[in-house]
Amino acid sequence: MSVRPTGDAAYLDGTSGPRPRERRIERGAALTGRRRVRADAGVVGTGAGGAVVAEVLAEAGLDVAMLEEGEWIEPEQLTARPRDISPRLYRDAGQVITFGNVSIPLPLGRAVGGTTILNSATCYRTPPALLEQWGLWSGEELDPCFRRVERTFNVCRVPREVAGANAHAMQRGAERLGWSGEYLHRASRGCVGAGVCAFGCPTGGKQHTGNTYVPLAWDAGATTYTGCRVTEVLVKDRRARGVVARTAGGGRLRVDADLVVVACGAIETPGLLARSGVRGEARRALGGNLSIHPCSGVWAEFDEPVEQWRGVPQAYAVDEFAAEGIMLEGWSGPPDMLALSLPAVGPEHRRLMLRARHVAQAGLMIRDSSRGRVRRVAGRTVVRYDVDERDVALLVRAMARAAELELAAGATAVHLPLRGAKPVRDVAELRGLRATAGRLGLSAFHPLGTAAAGAVVAADLQVRGVDGLMVADGSVVPSALGVNPQLTIMALATHAAFRAAGTTPPADEPQPETLGRAFALVPAAA
Ligand SMILES: Cc1cc2nc3c(=O)[nH]c(=O)nc-3n(C[C@H](O)[C@H](O)[C@H](O)COP(=O)(O)OP(=O)(O)OC[C@H]3O[C@@H](n4cnc5c(N)ncnc54)[C@H](O)[C@@H]3O)c2cc1C
Ligand code: SF4
Repeated sequence: MSVRPTGDAAYLDGTSGPRPRERRIERGAALTGRRRVRADAGVVGTGAGGAVVAEVLAEAGLDVAMLEEGEWIEPEQLTARPRDISPRLYRDAGQVITFGNVSIPLPLGRAVGGTTILNSATCYRTPPALLEQWGLWSGEELDPCFRRVERTFNVCRVPREVAGANAHAMQRGAERLGWSGEYLHRASRGCVGAGVCAFGCPTGGKQHTGNTYVPLAWDAGATTYTGCRVTEVLVKDRRARGVVARTAGGGRLRVDADLVVVACGAIETPGLLARSGVRGEARRALGGNLSIHPCSGVWAEFDEPVEQWRGVPQAYAVDEFAAEGIMLEGWSGPPDMLALSLPAVGPEHRRLMLRARHVAQAGLMIRDSSRGRVRRVAGRTVVRYDVDERDVALLVRAMARAAELELAAGATAVHLPLRGAKPVRDVAELRGLRATAGRLGLSAFHPLGTAAAGAVVAADLQVRGVDGLMVADGSVVPSALGVNPQLTIMALATHAAFRAAGTTPPADEPQPETLGRAFALVPAAA
């Protein structure tokens, strides 16, 4: 089997990548009346799951219509200014929030490329121990799917030279403490460390489904209908017949198709399925079982400048505590983002912003055992999620570990995301750290599990009880992963799409030279 390079040269090379012959986009904004088209497959959503399915089906010779609520964004429209970009790329301008014992911002993408257009591009395979626990797919059958995704996304290891001083501080801390860590594997073709991944990569170096799978699907004959929010899957005699969408121009688009793939993400998919003839056990499970990988960070003051906005925002990870369900991963961004996230107010906030060049950040994420639920209330999607006691304790432990890391790296003070907490200057101050859920400053980026395989869909991602209806997005992932999820979603989508097309993924995909380590460390325990 051939080997695909994953080193510095492969990461920094921006000369390859899909260049479509033709952009096959139909804009919903221009569609003011009624329109009806026929396709073999209608795929709803162009994020990590949807774009992959669309490409595989189109390559297999099916006529594919991709329907996407968001818009196609030109690379030159990506100005990297959070205020301009957030309403363009994010659902509700980034203001989706969970309700529960603590409110958690849960940003979601809404554009061609889905959340992948604004994510940090970190790539981990599904932990083998979890595949075993789920018992739905074997490592052997998914391996060619992972290799296909990794080749298409050019998953490579971040070179130290573009990682930036924020990542170097994490590495220094880990080495001084003897903790295991490594530069992350990311989807890159020519990333230069511009530091604004969360607002769309202005250089085109980040690989997302909008600049890889969608153009590949166009080349295979698929069409993308942008600005089209699907409101209903048409189901007759327990068989999917197509979809109906409301267009941004105020019109109505109907796509008749014998295969419908719902890939709206774990927050939007349950509501659409609930309106689409899903009944019985599958209907009862729909919307529940939501895991989100609650995240936070610590903010560390250094004497020397760090300039966290120079370099790859998520470049280094400490996986020493992966077996406990804790990952420490880089998390940085432009000064606007720092101003919003700092756990300080008033004069202290002003002081820290004046010292912004000297403030580093380390992100933390846990593998949650808490579970939430998604519901539609008065036409809106509402997310309920309470952080249970075990997860509160795990988050506090993760904060203490992240603070210890930054202190070991040479930080003079570390600010914790705990309401009322004082800056920490010595590791001894972290002993006995405790909190209640309401004191935690959290966010979350990985909603999963709301149409879980084994409950709502089968292992081939077909919805139970409705023929010709599939789900292929984060909602099918049965439980929290403990590592970043896009590769898992994409590999499951690849697997299901090949099955739906009646073929198998090619066995001769190259083997990557290296893979992120942490996936091998996440334990079997739920
Ligand atoms: C800031 C941030 C950073 C992240 N970083 C990473 C990372 O580094 N690595 C990683 O693995 N993961 C990361 N993630 C998570 C990852 O991007 C998501 O898990 C993944 O994209 C989810 O894929 P999906 O197919 O479930 O949904 P999405 O990618 O969200 O795609 C869903 C698409 O469906 C569309 N849609 C929704 N409803 C409708 C409808 N009714 N009609 C038509 N279209 C609809 C949406 O507009 C959207 O484009 C990050 C997430 C965020 C927010
Ligand atoms: S660090 Fe900059 S160049 Fe690299 S992927 Fe992110 S935004 Fe693009």
